[in-house]
Amino acid sequence: MKLILPTLALLLLSSPSWAQPMRLVMVGPPGAGKGTQASRLCQHYHVPHISTGAMLREQIACSTELGLKAKAYVESGELVPDDVIVVMLKETLAAQPDGFILDGFPRTLKQAQVLDLMLLELHQELSAVVYLSVPDEVVVERLLQRGRADDTEEIIGRRLEVFNEETTPVLEHYAKSGLLVEVEGVGSIEQVQDRMRVSLGKRSKE
Ligand code: AMP
Repeated sequence: MKLILPTLALLLLSSPSWAQPMRLVMVGPPGAGKGTQASRLCQHYHVPHISTGAMLREQIACSTELGLKAKAYVESGELVPDDVIVVMLKETLAAQPDGFILDGFPRTLKQAQVLDLMLLELHQELSAVVYLSVPDEVVVERLLQRGRADDTEEIIGRRLEVFNEETTPVLEHYAKSGLLVEVEGVGSIEQVQDRMRVSLGKRSKE
Protein backbone atom coordinates (compact mmCIF):
# COMPACT_ATOMS: atom_id res chain seq x y z
CA MET A 1 0.00 0.00 0.00
CA LYS A 2 2.88 2.31 0.96
CA LEU A 3 4.27 2.01 -2.54
CA ILE A 4 1.00 1.85 -4.49
CA LEU A 5 -0.26 5.37 -3.79
CA PRO A 6 2.93 7.27 -4.71
CA THR A 7 3.31 5.08 -7.82
CA LEU A 8 -0.24 5.83 -8.90
CA ALA A 9 0.25 9.56 -8.32
CA LEU A 10 3.48 9.48 -10.31
CA LEU A 11 1.79 7.64 -13.18
CA LEU A 12 -1.06 10.14 -13.34
CA LEU A 13 1.31 13.10 -13.24
CA SER A 14 3.75 11.74 -15.80
CA SER A 15 1.07 10.62 -18.23
CA PRO A 16 -1.36 13.43 -19.04
CA SER A 17 -3.12 11.21 -21.59
CA TRP A 18 -4.23 9.03 -18.67
CA ALA A 19 -5.28 11.89 -16.49
CA GLN A 20 -7.34 13.59 -19.24
CA PRO A 21 -9.69 11.77 -21.62
CA MET A 22 -8.77 12.20 -25.30
CA ARG A 23 -10.97 14.92 -26.78
CA LEU A 24 -10.04 15.68 -30.36
CA VAL A 25 -11.47 17.83 -33.10
CA MET A 26 -10.64 16.99 -36.72
CA VAL A 27 -10.66 19.83 -39.23
CA GLY A 28 -9.93 19.58 -42.94
CA PRO A 29 -11.44 20.14 -46.36
CA PRO A 30 -14.05 17.69 -47.67
CA GLY A 31 -12.20 14.58 -48.85
CA ALA A 32 -9.20 15.13 -46.56
CA GLY A 33 -9.89 11.74 -44.98
CA LYS A 34 -11.25 13.04 -41.65
CA GLY A 35 -13.81 10.25 -41.32
CA THR A 36 -11.43 7.41 -42.21
CA GLN A 37 -8.66 8.71 -39.99
CA ALA A 38 -11.00 9.59 -37.12
CA SER A 39 -12.49 6.10 -36.97
CA ARG A 40 -9.01 4.55 -36.80
CA LEU A 41 -7.91 6.99 -34.12
CA CYS A 42 -11.09 6.17 -32.16
CA GLN A 43 -10.14 2.48 -32.07
CA HIS A 44 -6.64 3.44 -30.92
CA TYR A 45 -7.78 5.79 -28.13
CA HIS A 46 -10.99 3.88 -27.29
CA VAL A 47 -13.26 6.89 -27.69
CA PRO A 48 -16.42 7.33 -29.78
CA HIS A 49 -16.42 8.96 -33.21
CA ILE A 50 -18.85 11.86 -33.53
CA SER A 51 -19.39 12.92 -37.14
CA THR A 52 -21.91 15.70 -37.66
CA GLY A 53 -22.10 14.87 -41.39
CA ALA A 54 -22.91 11.20 -40.65
CA MET A 55 -25.46 12.23 -38.00
CA LEU A 56 -27.15 14.54 -40.51
CA ARG A 57 -27.21 11.87 -43.24
CA GLU A 58 -28.83 9.47 -40.77
CA GLN A 59 -31.47 12.02 -39.81
CA ILE A 60 -32.14 12.69 -43.51
CA ALA A 61 -32.44 8.96 -44.29
CA CYS A 62 -34.97 8.58 -41.45
CA SER A 63 -36.87 11.72 -42.55
CA THR A 64 -36.87 13.08 -38.99
CA GLU A 65 -37.91 16.70 -38.41
CA LEU A 66 -34.23 17.64 -38.12
CA GLY A 67 -33.40 15.64 -41.25
CA LEU A 68 -36.07 17.43 -43.24
CA LYS A 69 -34.67 20.81 -42.15
CA ALA A 70 -31.10 19.79 -43.08
CA LYS A 71 -31.75 17.99 -46.39
CA ALA A 72 -31.58 20.84 -48.89
CA TYR A 73 -28.41 22.26 -47.32
CA VAL A 74 -26.52 18.96 -47.29
CA GLU A 75 -27.59 18.17 -50.85
CA SER A 76 -26.31 21.50 -52.17
CA GLY A 77 -23.05 21.55 -50.17
CA GLU A 78 -24.12 24.48 -47.98
CA LEU A 79 -23.74 24.55 -44.21
CA VAL A 80 -26.75 23.48 -42.18
CA PRO A 81 -27.92 26.36 -39.90
CA ASP A 82 -26.36 26.40 -36.45
CA ASP A 83 -29.64 26.06 -34.56
CA VAL A 84 -30.22 22.67 -36.19
CA ILE A 85 -26.74 21.32 -35.64
CA VAL A 86 -25.97 22.75 -32.20
CA VAL A 87 -28.93 21.07 -30.45
CA MET A 88 -27.99 17.75 -32.02
CA LEU A 89 -24.36 18.07 -30.92
CA LYS A 90 -24.97 19.32 -27.38
CA GLU A 91 -26.95 16.22 -26.45
CA THR A 92 -24.28 13.99 -27.97
CA LEU A 93 -21.34 15.64 -26.19
CA ALA A 94 -23.10 15.64 -22.84
CA ALA A 95 -23.35 11.85 -23.17
CA GLN A 96 -19.58 11.46 -23.72
CA PRO A 97 -17.71 12.46 -20.54
CA ASP A 98 -14.86 10.02 -21.29
CA GLY A 99 -13.65 11.56 -24.52
CA PHE A 100 -14.50 11.70 -28.20
CA ILE A 101 -13.23 12.52 -31.65
CA LEU A 102 -15.34 15.17 -33.26
CA ASP A 103 -15.31 15.20 -37.05
CA GLY A 104 -17.06 17.89 -39.09
CA PHE A 105 -17.66 20.39 -36.28
CA PRO A 106 -16.80 23.24 -35.86
CA ARG A 107 -16.90 24.51 -39.44
CA THR A 108 -17.24 28.23 -38.70
CA LEU A 109 -15.69 30.59 -36.17
CA LYS A 110 -19.12 30.97 -34.57
CA GLN A 111 -19.40 27.18 -34.17
CA ALA A 112 -15.91 27.10 -32.62
CA GLN A 113 -17.03 29.69 -30.07
CA VAL A 114 -20.21 27.70 -29.38
CA LEU A 115 -18.12 24.56 -28.87
CA ASP A 116 -15.79 26.39 -26.45
CA LEU A 117 -18.80 27.41 -24.36
CA MET A 118 -20.43 23.99 -24.56
CA LEU A 119 -17.26 22.29 -23.31
CA LEU A 120 -16.82 24.86 -20.55
CA GLU A 121 -20.35 24.14 -19.31
CA LEU A 122 -19.67 20.40 -19.47
CA HIS A 123 -16.28 20.83 -17.68
CA GLN A 124 -14.56 19.19 -20.63
CA GLU A 125 -11.31 20.35 -22.24
CA LEU A 126 -10.04 19.69 -25.76
CA SER A 127 -6.78 17.76 -26.02
CA ALA A 128 -5.96 18.99 -29.53
CA VAL A 129 -7.38 20.05 -32.88
CA VAL A 130 -5.96 18.11 -35.82
CA TYR A 131 -5.86 19.94 -39.14
CA LEU A 132 -5.62 17.40 -41.92
CA SER A 133 -4.18 19.41 -44.80
CA VAL A 134 -4.66 18.22 -48.38
CA PRO A 135 -4.32 20.27 -51.60
CA ASP A 136 -7.55 21.03 -53.49
CA GLU A 137 -6.69 18.93 -56.56
CA VAL A 138 -6.12 15.78 -54.44
CA VAL A 139 -9.40 16.41 -52.61
CA VAL A 140 -11.41 16.72 -55.85
CA GLU A 141 -9.89 13.52 -57.25
CA ARG A 142 -10.65 11.57 -54.04
CA LEU A 143 -14.23 12.82 -53.77
CA LEU A 144 -15.07 12.03 -57.38
CA GLN A 145 -13.92 8.46 -56.72
CA ARG A 146 -15.95 8.19 -53.50
CA GLY A 147 -19.18 9.13 -55.25
CA ARG A 148 -21.45 10.05 -52.30
CA ALA A 149 -24.68 11.89 -53.24
CA ASP A 150 -23.01 15.28 -52.54
CA ASP A 151 -19.81 14.32 -54.39
CA THR A 152 -20.64 15.75 -57.82
CA GLU A 153 -18.13 18.16 -59.37
CA GLU A 154 -20.38 21.19 -58.83
CA ILE A 155 -21.20 20.43 -55.19
CA ILE A 156 -17.58 19.53 -54.39
CA GLY A 157 -16.56 22.96 -55.73
CA ARG A 158 -19.07 24.65 -53.46
CA ARG A 159 -18.02 22.60 -50.40
CA LEU A 160 -14.39 23.57 -51.01
CA GLU A 161 -15.35 27.23 -51.29
CA VAL A 162 -17.31 26.96 -48.03
CA PHE A 163 -14.27 25.35 -46.37
CA ASN A 164 -11.89 28.05 -47.54
CA GLU A 165 -14.20 30.92 -46.57
CA GLU A 166 -15.83 29.64 -43.39
CA THR A 167 -13.46 27.09 -41.89
CA THR A 168 -10.09 28.79 -42.31
CA PRO A 169 -10.89 31.17 -39.39
CA VAL A 170 -11.49 28.06 -37.23
CA LEU A 171 -7.85 27.05 -37.81
CA GLU A 172 -6.67 30.51 -36.74
CA HIS A 173 -8.87 30.33 -33.63
CA TYR A 174 -7.29 27.06 -32.46
CA ALA A 175 -3.78 28.10 -33.47
CA LYS A 176 -4.18 31.08 -31.12
CA SER A 177 -5.23 28.83 -28.25
CA GLY A 178 -2.26 26.53 -28.89
CA LEU A 179 -4.40 23.50 -29.72
CA LEU A 180 -3.73 23.18 -33.45
CA VAL A 181 -1.71 20.24 -34.76
CA GLU A 182 -1.24 20.24 -38.54
CA VAL A 183 -0.82 16.85 -40.20
CA GLU A 184 -0.23 16.37 -43.91
CA GLY A 185 -3.11 14.25 -45.24
CA VAL A 186 -1.46 13.08 -48.47
CA GLY A 187 -0.24 9.46 -48.61
CA SER A 188 -1.68 6.07 -47.75
CA ILE A 189 -4.28 5.74 -44.97
CA GLU A 190 -1.65 4.02 -42.78
CA GLN A 191 1.01 6.67 -43.42
CA VAL A 192 -1.36 9.49 -42.49
CA GLN A 193 -2.58 7.60 -39.42
CA ASP A 194 1.01 7.06 -38.23
CA ARG A 195 1.79 10.75 -38.75
CA MET A 196 -1.24 11.70 -36.65
CA ARG A 197 -0.36 9.36 -33.81
CA VAL A 198 3.25 10.57 -33.74
CA SER A 199 2.17 14.24 -33.68
CA LEU A 200 -0.43 13.62 -30.96
CA GLY A 201 2.01 11.50 -28.96
CA LYS A 202 4.61 14.28 -29.04
CA ARG A 203 2.00 16.79 -27.97
CA SER A 204 0.84 14.79 -24.95
CA LYS A 205 4.48 14.68 -23.74
CA GLU A 206 5.02 18.44 -24.06
P1 AMP B 1 -19.28 15.92 -44.02
O1 AMP B 1 -19.74 14.51 -43.94
O2 AMP B 1 -18.52 16.37 -42.79
O3 AMP B 1 -18.53 16.21 -45.31
O4 AMP B 1 -20.60 16.85 -44.08
C1 AMP B 1 -21.54 16.73 -45.12
C2 AMP B 1 -22.49 17.92 -45.11
O5 AMP B 1 -23.19 17.97 -43.85
C3 AMP B 1 -21.83 19.28 -45.24
O6 AMP B 1 -21.57 19.63 -46.60
C4 AMP B 1 -22.89 20.18 -44.60
O7 AMP B 1 -23.98 20.40 -45.47
C5 AMP B 1 -23.40 19.33 -43.44
N1 AMP B 1 -22.62 19.56 -42.19
C6 AMP B 1 -21.82 18.68 -41.53
N2 AMP B 1 -21.28 19.22 -40.43
C7 AMP B 1 -21.74 20.50 -40.39
C8 AMP B 1 -21.54 21.61 -39.50
N3 AMP B 1 -20.71 21.52 -38.45
N4 AMP B 1 -22.21 22.76 -39.76
C9 AMP B 1 -23.04 22.88 -40.81
N5 AMP B 1 -23.26 21.90 -41.70
C10 AMP B 1 -22.62 20.70 -41.50
